[in-house]
Amino acid sequence: MITDRNINLLKQKIAEADAIVVGGASGMSASSGFKFYYQRDEVFGMIAGSLEDKYGFHSFFDALYDRRPTRGEHWAMLIRTMKYIYDSYTGDSYSDLAELLKDKNYYVATTNQDAQFYRVFPKEKITPIQGDWRYWQCSRPCHDEVYYNRKNVYDLYENIKDDSLPDDLIPRCKYCGHEMAPWVRSHTFLEGKFYKSEMNRYKEFLRKNMNGKTLFLELGVGMMTPMFIKEPFMNMVYRWPKATYVTINPQHVIIPKEISDKSLGIKDDIAITLKRLLGKSTEGMSIYDKNNIFNPSRVY
Ligand SMILES: [Zn+2]
Repeated sequence: MITDRNINLLKQKIAEADAIVVGGASGMSASSGFKFYYQRDEVFGMIAGSLEDKYGFHSFFDALYDRRPTRGEHWAMLIRTMKYIYDSYTGDSYSDLAELLKDKNYYVATTNQDAQFYRVFPKEKITPIQGDWRYWQCSRPCHDEVYYNRKNVYDLYENIKDDSLPDDLIPRCKYCGHEMAPWVRSHTFLEGKFYKSEMNRYKEFLRKNMNGKTLFLELGVGMMTPMFIKEPFMNMVYRWPKATYVTINPQHVIIPKEISDKSLGIKDDIAITLKRLLGKSTEGMSIYDKNNIFNPSRVY
C-alpha cells in the first residue's frame, strides 16, 4: 500500500515539473480492467465465441498467435477485438491521469495498442510506439500507408458468420492482393512515414525539455519489452541534470543505483495511486491479489 508520504512526494514532483513525459504500458490498461489480452474473461469469451472450446485457447494473445484457426476465424477474432476497442468504456486510470495532467506541459509515449490514451488526450500529444489496432497496413508490407479502419470494422463485424469472416470479405491490399494486417508490432510492422512522424514529435518534445525539470512518469511498464520506455527513461534521467524518474507498478519496481537519488518507485496499483493523487475515494476498489495478478506471459 502506498504511503501518504509517497503520495505527497509524488504530488510535489508533479507540481514542480516543467514537463512530464508519461510512459504508459500494459499495466495501465490492466488496472482499468482490460485483461483479456492475457487472461480469460467475458471479453475474451465474446471475441473467441465457439473457437475457445474448438482450439482450447483462453486469452487474446494465445488466440492471435495460434496457427490452427482458419483465416476467416482469425479475422473474426481480429474484427471483434477492434470493434471492442472502439466500443469499450474509457478506463478510470486514463480519465484520472488526464485530470492529473490537465494544464500541464506533458507528452505520452505508449506501447499500448488499445487507443485508450486517445480517449482522454489529444493525438498530437501521444506517440504509439508499437502501433495501434485502429489502423491496418499491407501485411507484406508492399507500400507505405496505414489505414484507419473504423468503418471497415463495423461493416465486417455484421458479416461474421459462425465465428468466421467469409473468405471473400477478408481485407486485402489494393496493390498486391495480400491480406491486410493490424498496424501493431510484428516482424512486418510498418515503420514508415506515419510511424516516423509519430516518433519525431515525441523526440522533439524530449529535445525541448532536456534541460528543464522533466518528470518521467512510468506507468505499468513490465519487464518484457524494456527497450521502448523503461530503458530510455532511465538513460535520460541519468544524463539530464534536472530530470526525475517515477515508476508506478504493482509488480516490478526497479531503480538503478545510478539514478536512485533522482527516482521514486511506487509498488502499488496504478488505478488506486492515481485516485489517491487526486484526493478521490478508493472505497470498494480491490487491492490487487498477489496470487491472481495480471501477469503477461508474452508481450507483443
Ligand atoms: Zn500490399
